[in-house]
Amino acid sequence: MGECIFCKIANKEILSKPVYEDERCYAFYDLDPQAPTHFLVIPKRHIASALDLGEDDAALVGHCYAVIAKVARELGLDSYRVVTNCGEQAGQTVFHLHFHVLAGRDMTWPPG
Ligand code: AMP
Ligand code: ZN
Repeated sequence: MGECIFCKIANKEILSKPVYEDERCYAFYDLDPQAPTHFLVIPKRHIASALDLGEDDAALVGHCYAVIAKVARELGLDSYRVVTNCGEQAGQTVFHLHFHVLAGRDMTWPPG
């Protein structure tokens, strides 16, 4: 996935501000934060979008959510929103699966 920006971030070919890393996933702060705290959690393996997930990816997705909870505890977040935009109409602009984690302000529902 030579041209994928998030693969390059996971490989450290593009600089980012890290939040957490292990062998399966990487978390880093969003360049254009939409809340006082806004970071992204990505699997290191390239998966284009949530539409490409199958049963074999269940442990990886569960791991990403466990990482989100761990980082949230470490950052002292007791309330946060996790968002995955899937497909262009839903607002996906980077086609490497990622979980936005937003916190630090009141959130509205439904989302726009
Ligand atoms: P989405 O629009 O849901 O695909 O989210 C992509 C997110 O990636 C946006 O919130 C962007 O601000 C963020 N983003 C794009 N390039 C970078 C980068 N180099 N470092 C950190 N965040 C980025
Ligand atoms: Zn990728």
